[in-house]
Amino acid sequence: MKTILVVEDEMKIARLVRDYLRHAGFEVIVTGDGESALASARGSRPDLVVLDLGLPGRDGLDVTRELRRSSNVPIVVLTARGDEADRIVGLELGADDYVVKPFSPKELVARVRAVLRRTATASAGPEVLRAAGVEVDVLRMRVSVEGRSVDLTPTEFHLLTALIREPGRVFTRAQLLDAVHGVAVESYERAIDAHVKNIRRKIEPAPGKPRYLLTVHGVGYRFADE
Ligand code: CA
Repeated sequence: MKTILVVEDEMKIARLVRDYLRHAGFEVIVTGDGESALASARGSRPDLVVLDLGLPGRDGLDVTRELRRSSNVPIVVLTARGDEADRIVGLELGADDYVVKPFSPKELVARVRAVLRRTATASAGPEVLRAAGVEVDVLRMRVSVEGRSVDLTPTEFHLLTALIREPGRVFTRAQLLDAVHGVAVESYERAIDAHVKNIRRKIEPAPGKPRYLLTVHGVGYRFADE
């Protein structure tokens, strides 16, 4: 059974989310603040974290940053309507998806399932993709650049895998959104830019002058095909 860590200080929402996730067959741990969230993440090794950004004390962005220091656990953040800046920062820090409050618990469960599915399908078949010095081991979810291994979050991994599967093909941001989301979500193309920025920081020798993950102005991105 998969374990979900829910971090939410509003007890009413926390209980609702817990009940829906349990009903969907997940084991659920609930914490109400950032410190205990980090302790639970270390102690119970959840399969996914649902993280409210508005927390007392250590806020959700801080928790995301801290989690990403030591783990690639999938993170779905809960954000207040209108907090677009927080959403972008959350994705930049490595969150895999977000849900805007007020949300329907059913939608949240669908997002959680989709993110877990993405993580799982990545380990479905023995497959190694190579292009321009970058190697993606789909089965093991491992990436290396010129022999040096690189640590990507699940979303970054799926984005890179989609691009490197067809070197040279131009992908629009909308197509890349499709590639990383298992369910239809509101089009949020700037999120793709945030993830691309993170991938570049990790795989490019000079992220400002990308060699592998290239921008196609006015359209989207492509993986280098030489
Ligand atoms: Ca809150």
